[in-house]
Amino acid sequence: MSEQSRPYDVAIIGAGINGAGIARDAALRGLRVVVLEQNDLCSGTSAASSRLIHGGLRYLEYGEFPLVFESLRERITLRKIAAHLVQPLRITIPIYESARRGLWLIRLGMVAYDLLSVGKTVPGHEALSRDAMLAAEPGLASTGLRGAVRYFDAQVTYAERLVLENLLAARAAGADILTYKTVTGINIEQGRVTSLDFRDALTAQTQRVEANVIINAAGPWVDAVLGTATDNAPRLIGGTKGSHIVVGDFDGAPTDAFYVEAAADGRPFFIIPWNDQYLIGTTDIRYDGDLGEIRASQAEIDYLLAETTRAFPDARLTAHNICYTYAGVRPLPKRDKGPESSITRRHIICKNRKIARGLISIIGGKLTTYRNLAEQTVDRLGRVPGSQASRLPHTRNVVAGRVSAGRSTCGPGIAGLPVGQRCRTITRYLWRSRNRTSQPGR
Ligand SMILES: Cc1cc2nc3c(=O)[nH]c(=O)nc-3n(C[C@H](O)[C@H](O)[C@H](O)COP(=O)(O)OP(=O)(O)OC[C@H]3O[C@@H](n4cnc5c(N)ncnc54)[C@H](O)[C@@H]3O)c2cc1C
Repeated sequence: MSEQSRPYDVAIIGAGINGAGIARDAALRGLRVVVLEQNDLCSGTSAASSRLIHGGLRYLEYGEFPLVFESLRERITLRKIAAHLVQPLRITIPIYESARRGLWLIRLGMVAYDLLSVGKTVPGHEALSRDAMLAAEPGLASTGLRGAVRYFDAQVTYAERLVLENLLAARAAGADILTYKTVTGINIEQGRVTSLDFRDALTAQTQRVEANVIINAAGPWVDAVLGTATDNAPRLIGGTKGSHIVVGDFDGAPTDAFYVEAAADGRPFFIIPWNDQYLIGTTDIRYDGDLGEIRASQAEIDYLLAETTRAFPDARLTAHNICYTYAGVRPLPKRDKGPESSITRRHIICKNRKIARGLISIIGGKLTTYRNLAEQTVDRLGRVPGSQASRLPHTRNVVAGRVSAGRSTCGPGIAGLPVGQRCRTITRYLWRSRNRTSQPGR
């Protein structure tokens, strides 16, 4: 840990994608940042996702046009700043006579998706006849098949690296990143946060860091963290569990990624070629259990095996095909009523003023939109009391550099520069970074 003569400007709880993104953004703007993570980096929900950088075609059904637009814009941005981690992914939606979502509804959705992804660098959607679909993917179930639609989204094969590279960039800009440190207390004086207590998982010692702002980016643990500040914390999170199975190659396996409507409940789920295997998921079930014991249930596993075999009949998947399963809890806003799939996937940056000034909690969000969430969160900090970074330059209209630390010119000393010079330094850094990302092979 760096010298503690003055408090950190910002302490971030949680090194998932959101904590990592905020750390990077805040550190690049000259704030003194510390990140505390109770486990290893990216050990929570961010490691349990479907690994898609996507607009969220499904969200159109719920009228979430701004979210889809934001996500598609971020997909473009991530392809620029993290092209080595985020690759285009072609996805096929087969359409059957019995489907809840018919051919014209899907095509309408695809037109909207294309329109909302203005400026994209991947091709627009295309329609396939039944014969063309079966010629391309002979293993696909043919009974009742009417045709198909193909479109592009993107995949982050290793979400863990995306998190890691954001944290390396934050560290290169002066942030301290502390792992295996569980935050056990948020201390408040005169209505304002002052410091954090944390327990070192390796030594069991308790220590304290002072910080002027505390950002609770603990994902599904957000409420537990708020509980360390007060006994009267409101419940913000209503998590839903999502599970995946990972299987090896199977008979009739597709070459493309597939987005298929499940026969059992009409939910769409993905069958994605991933890392020489197939990633199949996900489910979406309200979860109130132990966050330390999140597992795919037998019912979820059976559902994913059966639905995949229905889509690709030669697969005849059984438990023997499974390499492993994983599950995570989406840190969604608390909503007790309505189907899980209708709960918004938008993020909420919640200032917990009723608990203390300077305390902010992050609710919801997606891997896809973490960069924008981070930018908005740091924009909202305004002037951080006691910080030498007296006015934070906005990054809203700037593609904020590549995610990895690389040969960053934006070091810890930037906080000491006058605002104008700081902005010029950041702009220069961003410009060089953008040029570097356009090199072939990146
Ligand atoms: C099944 C599933 C599929 C998904 N698929 C996609 C997808 O394809 N594309 C997409 O964009 N999004 C997807 N998402 C959503 C996305 O994964 C999450 O919204 C995102 O990862 C949440 O990140 P986070 O940083 O807020 O939380 P997390 O990744 O959970 O990070 C929070 C961190 O806080 C730490 N922490 C908790 N308490 C403490 C404490 N007291 N002290 C210190 N550290 C603490 C935890 O250990 C954890 O590492 C999916 C989610 C799920 C569950």
